[in-house]
Amino acid sequence: MTDETDQKKDDLLLRLRSFHSDYFPLHQQRFQDLVTQGQHPKTLFIGCSDSRLVPYLLTGAGPGELFLVRNVGAFVPPYDGSHGLHGTTAAIEFAVLQLDVERIIVCGHTHCGAIRAAYEGVPDEARNLRAWLKLADEALLPVQPSAEALYRTEQRAVVLQLERLMDYPMVRRKVESGHLTLHGWHYVIEDGEIHVFDALRGDFVAASEASNSGTGPYQPYVEPDGSLPDR
Ligand SMILES: [Zn+2]
Repeated sequence: MTDETDQKKDDLLLRLRSFHSDYFPLHQQRFQDLVTQGQHPKTLFIGCSDSRLVPYLLTGAGPGELFLVRNVGAFVPPYDGSHGLHGTTAAIEFAVLQLDVERIIVCGHTHCGAIRAAYEGVPDEARNLRAWLKLADEALLPVQPSAEALYRTEQRAVVLQLERLMDYPMVRRKVESGHLTLHGWHYVIEDGEIHVFDALRGDFVAASEASNSGTGPYQPYVEPDGSLPDR
């Protein structure tokens, strides 16, 4: 009796059972195919770890479609390894060289705690987090982090990661040969809409008005007044 009561309290266990009994039977063949034929995702999705960003909902993707990497801020470490060992770097190399993905999406979002923390700092004990957030330094604006400044910084950070991706030799090679496209996305949580970085316009455009889901190859981000950002 106690066991049963405890299990009812274990919401996570109930969800695991629900997946197995309700969802899996409906998609069993798909999973079986993915086992026998292996995975062949066409998209590497680099997204912030934020719980409000749900890549499968946003893209309508199912099993086998997204090779997913998430980290605090959706940052791309430099290819040169200067910031130490990084799972994100390894995942990019694997996705591009082994899986031969055709798209890389970098997806930031509004109200991003990583961007705010890049301005406001983190507790002393979070030494790894502090070092990690330096990957956003070049996107920061020399102003107080107002709501507008944070919004713009989130977008600038996405573009900065696209720029870093182009420093990966295998990424640059495939982008320049037309075998890989880069997509910079800014998810506006409160509107339920992705804003897509249009490299040709040099600006983010709401998906409802955009002509594409991202253009490449990457070109330098241009401020709304036509100037290049200070870097
Ligand atoms: Zn975030």
